[in-house]
Amino acid sequence: MTDQKPFVDIRHAKKSYGTLEVLKDISLQVHRGEIVAIIGPSGSGKSTLLRAINDLDPLSGGEIWLEDTQVNMDLPHRQYEKHINEVRQNIGMVFQHFNLFPHLTVRENITLAPKLLKGINDAEANKLAEEQLAKVGMLERIDYYPSQLSGGQKQRVAIARALAMKPKVMLFDEATSALDPELVEEVNQVMKALAEEHMTMIIVTHEMGFAESVCDRVLFMDQGVVVEEGPPSVIFRNPQNERTRNFLRKHL
Ligand code: ADP
Ligand code: MG
Repeated sequence: MTDQKPFVDIRHAKKSYGTLEVLKDISLQVHRGEIVAIIGPSGSGKSTLLRAINDLDPLSGGEIWLEDTQVNMDLPHRQYEKHINEVRQNIGMVFQHFNLFPHLTVRENITLAPKLLKGINDAEANKLAEEQLAKVGMLERIDYYPSQLSGGQKQRVAIARALAMKPKVMLFDEATSALDPELVEEVNQVMKALAEEHMTMIIVTHEMGFAESVCDRVLFMDQGVVVEEGPPSVIFRNPQNERTRNFLRKHL
């Protein structure tokens, strides 16, 4: 895998809010089919880094590349809008809080973006929605509204919605941390199934067991730096850095 060009290439990412340095020169290369977990204490910059990948939180310095395209390009406004809309079609994102549109059914939530951005017709969009919902075990709820679903079901729909755009990479930001404990597993199962299909994924999580069982590589972030990274067997079983050890002592 390492002989290929990285799929996602974060080069010297820096981000400040005023005098607060949130990302201090972070580099990360993710290859096609790779699954990377990002762990670390609250406030360490995990969400900022993830959101920088599709330029939702523009960097103060450094570059983000998705295959051969630089994501955070300096362009005149109109050109930038066109560029970033194209880039974002390739990046599926699932947040902690299910951001489904409450006034739309599950079907409409899923078909909206493909119809709008890819110009596909109703029949094709419906087929796409049905396929993706079947994949996350939610086909029978296709005509429900989000308010009629549990948190775990909403999150599975949010994943199906992201997948309907046929993204090249999926980003998860604590996708299960707002869920009641008994609903976590059904969402984890969906993410595991994606992992088995070799979807490229970057997963911010505080579930160490899940990260260990699913991810190829784990990054431990603290105070805006990557303190340590390596295979889960090393990071979780034999961490080299004192800060990593301290964090895991509290979270394993
Ligand atoms: P994590 O996801 O690891 O908890 P974040 O990336 O959300 O961390 O935040 C990193 C730091 O950046 C925190 O100190 C947070 O308060 C700060 N931060 C995040 N977003 C903003 C913002 N829009 N304005 C100012 N500070 C922010
Ligand atoms: Mg966060």
